[in-house]
Amino acid sequence: MEKKFLEGLNQLLQAPKKIVVLPHRNPDGDALGSTLAWMHFLQAKGHQAVVISPNEYPSFLDWLPGQGQIIKFNQKTELALQHIEAADLIFTLDFNDLSRVEEMEAEVKAASAVKIMIDHHENPSDYATLMYSKPGMSSTCEMVYDLIAALDATAFNPEIANCLYTGIMTDTGSFRFPSTTSATHKAIAALIDAGAKGSDIHQQIYDTAHFSRIQLLGLTLSKIHKIEGTPVVYMYLTQEELNRFNYQKGDTEGFVNYGLNLEGIVFSAIMIENQREGKIKMSFRSQGAFSVNEFAKTYFSGGGHHNAAGGMSLTSMEDTIKRFEQAVLENKAKFE
Ligand code: 5GP
Ligand code: MN
Repeated sequence: MEKKFLEGLNQLLQAPKKIVVLPHRNPDGDALGSTLAWMHFLQAKGHQAVVISPNEYPSFLDWLPGQGQIIKFNQKTELALQHIEAADLIFTLDFNDLSRVEEMEAEVKAASAVKIMIDHHENPSDYATLMYSKPGMSSTCEMVYDLIAALDATAFNPEIANCLYTGIMTDTGSFRFPSTTSATHKAIAALIDAGAKGSDIHQQIYDTAHFSRIQLLGLTLSKIHKIEGTPVVYMYLTQEELNRFNYQKGDTEGFVNYGLNLEGIVFSAIMIENQREGKIKMSFRSQGAFSVNEFAKTYFSGGGHHNAAGGMSLTSMEDTIKRFEQAVLENKAKFE
């Protein structure tokens, strides 16, 4: 960790502060795990800290220690705005550009608070006064682990440990993606010693599906399509299909990864219609050299990491699929 960041942070945290901690919209395990762990740490140090999420999160995360304290901006906008306006410090975790908090972007930008970024996504934007950006890291949770270890290693407790374990686990695909290092495993070992219940967390996240989610997965996989002459597959779900299977937030999490289970496939995509928001959310996963971060940035106004990224499309499903196929064919040489 950079000395400059640590010194700057230590200075800011010397006296009790009013602090807002923000995950990105549609927060995942890493975003919620890291913001909640950081909130617990700050509260234990005598600060007034609150997590404000732009919107809801999936039910497989609604057991995380402290999640009951989260203010959802889309539900309690007035209260959230009061906190943002009064804040001395705003920490933004697990995202690299203020556009990722969508409906909160203008208010966060306008806030007088000092902004501090902690994140592992590539190509960070320049909005924060203090920045801890490390794109090689497995997860923001691993960065928060390092940060707390550097600030006060005695501060780890079961709440912090369970939150951080969760985000490291979900962002590494359960410790299997190449971003998983020996340092990741050492952090996990220390978190278990501090009270993280690994087996319970796995069960809470992966073994609590409702029946229709598994059926929706079956439908998605039955329609998987390979683009002729390329090692690329895609899947898609229309709003009608989601409705038919009683779609709830988080139900499609992880579906895109199945494409990479196929031998020889190095790029898998899923396109999911969201009629209410008038867009199609796209998720991209790759194995090896092909950068889905670049692909998402170039073709679908998105971004993320080298092997895991997302983007969106504002046209019909039919047109989105056509544009996706076209984009893949333009990149054909990169797969050879
Ligand atoms: P997912 O496919 O799971 O939604 O996202 C994969 C990764 O890409 C995550 O790290 C996520 O933060 C990032 N990501 C997803 N969608 C977008 C997007 O629209 N823009 C950017 N910049 N990053 C995204
Ligand atoms: Mn992350």
